[in-house]
Amino acid sequence: MSEGKIALLPDHVANQIAAGEVVQRPASVVKELIENAIDAGATRVTLIIKDAGKTLLQVNDNGYGMNPFDARLCFERHATSKITNADDLFRLATKGFRGEALASIAAVAQVELRTKRAEDAVGQKVVIEGGKFIVQEECQSPTGTSLIIKNLFFNIPARRNFLKNDQVEQKHILEEVERIAIPHTNVHFVVNSNGNELLNLPAGNLMQRLKSLLGSYIQKELVPVEETTPYVKISGYVSLPEFTIKQRKEQFLFVNNRYIRSAFLNHAIYEGYKDLIGPQSHPRFFIFLELQPSEIDINIHPTKTEVKFTDDKTVYMLLSSAIKRALGKANASPSLNFENEMSFAAPSLSAMPKAPTIGYNPAYNPFSNPAPLENKSNKANWENLFDGFQNKQDSTENLQQELTAIKSETVDFTPIQLNQKYIVAIWQQNVLIVDQQRAHERVLYEHYLNSNLLHPVASQQKLFPDQIELSVNDFTLVKDLIPELKTLGFDLDIFGKNSIVVNGAPTDMEDFNIPEILEGILETFRLNTIDAKVEKHDNLSRAIAKNTCIRYGKSLDTTEMKALIQSLFACENPLYTANGKYVMMTVENSEIEKFFRK
Ligand code: ADP
Ligand code: MG
Repeated sequence: MSEGKIALLPDHVANQIAAGEVVQRPASVVKELIENAIDAGATRVTLIIKDAGKTLLQVNDNGYGMNPFDARLCFERHATSKITNADDLFRLATKGFRGEALASIAAVAQVELRTKRAEDAVGQKVVIEGGKFIVQEECQSPTGTSLIIKNLFFNIPARRNFLKNDQVEQKHILEEVERIAIPHTNVHFVVNSNGNELLNLPAGNLMQRLKSLLGSYIQKELVPVEETTPYVKISGYVSLPEFTIKQRKEQFLFVNNRYIRSAFLNHAIYEGYKDLIGPQSHPRFFIFLELQPSEIDINIHPTKTEVKFTDDKTVYMLLSSAIKRALGKANASPSLNFENEMSFAAPSLSAMPKAPTIGYNPAYNPFSNPAPLENKSNKANWENLFDGFQNKQDSTENLQQELTAIKSETVDFTPIQLNQKYIVAIWQQNVLIVDQQRAHERVLYEHYLNSNLLHPVASQQKLFPDQIELSVNDFTLVKDLIPELKTLGFDLDIFGKNSIVVNGAPTDMEDFNIPEILEGILETFRLNTIDAKVEKHDNLSRAIAKNTCIRYGKSLDTTEMKALIQSLFACENPLYTANGKYVMMTVENSEIEKFFRK
């Protein structure tokens, strides 16, 4: 008889194959390592990455640590301390349970583990490269575990080449961190990338965590959701209807503190908003469902972001009514009370202007761009719009009609200026009145707010740097704010005692007297710090916007007014200033009709 054809795969080959499923990109490693840290009871987790995790990816935790035996065993496939028999699968309280992650990661990278338990005097170091055990020895280590992953996919060039650029890979990493950080608010998370601290999320409650992730402004845009039934407990936050946005962003669902995606749960949430928001408006949501582990099956997808419930219908119904109730309680909708008060009513929900273009980029200073209405991104959007119609409609006649209708609604309005203070326009047959100063302040605020270390505001280097003498107070404040100010386009350096030198300022501040503006910004910043606990970056963005926006009394020509309105509508939240004041009001056509019927 000839020899059989079947042979068992060597372990390191099997691990490499398994790795294909678990480790798709640096972000998958981040997820597995941080989940392990949480499972180990850590209260502080630090993630350090270099080149978006391609060169280095390190997770340090202060959890239980491992003994010398486990430090070696944890890299074996199906090595897990978390389940011991199949029944445990239905009582799952930990994140991991397959015992595959470390084996898979070690198969495709150079891995160093350092770990120590509180009761041990010395720690253990284990090195594994491409699945091959290199060394295990004693080492100095704080209590907890540190996993250092170098040169991911070094032994699978095809996979390595398949990775996207650093910016994209880093975005995936930060997404994974968010998904774990939001439900685990008792854990302090720090993320450091190429030597810069990207995230620092101290332990706190859910609202504090959301504020440190998204900015303090988020608090007044959200309402709490709270519903407890014997089958499921629902909690979290959702957007007030007037703060819904034009993109689907920041929509998080967690089942038993695990991030999941679910089209039907999303649907339940939107159902809760029915009749309160338009078809292009999307709420932010951070919703937590808690059920008996036996009522759910999470293990139906390898990356575990899908879920099945034993009773889908009940979950759907309870969730949508929980949202409805939360919104009802907040009594969210400001309504246009035309009969009693003609002038200063809030814009009603149905009158909330729809953005004229899809995803138009806020041109932050409309006046530095002579023809913003014709700029490239806008054109591209018109083309997209056209594409959409082409797909939907094959009758060219209809298409033509719809397009003309839309274009005339969005671009062909001619605004007029009232008292050098307001911009008045006809908008979808309603009268729209925009406060010019507040509108520009909103546009600038979002522009600065959206900058971060990775995408700083463009800065113009000065030919003759300004040297500014400051009060001791201002000097101390500026010193503290230098990194944030750099992100916002101000290139400053300390210049001796109580002096700074400004080497560069945001590109669009050319016409401003920088020392004067800076003084104003510091003053506003200080006032805001006293009034409201606003986070630094957010606060500075407000202060800059307030000090550099156009004022009442400035005449605007038609192009400028159009540009301002366009930029405003492209804002996440065009209705209010950062401090919650109305930016615009509308008088609806139906209200006009009703008035003249009398
Ligand atoms: P799983 O998490 O599915 O059990 P892993 O491969 O991720 O599988 O981890 C294997 C085992 O290694 C875990 O069950 C745990 O006992 C141990 N382990 C991994 N990471 C840590 C850590 N950060 N702290 C303590 N123990 C850990
Ligand atoms: Mg794990």
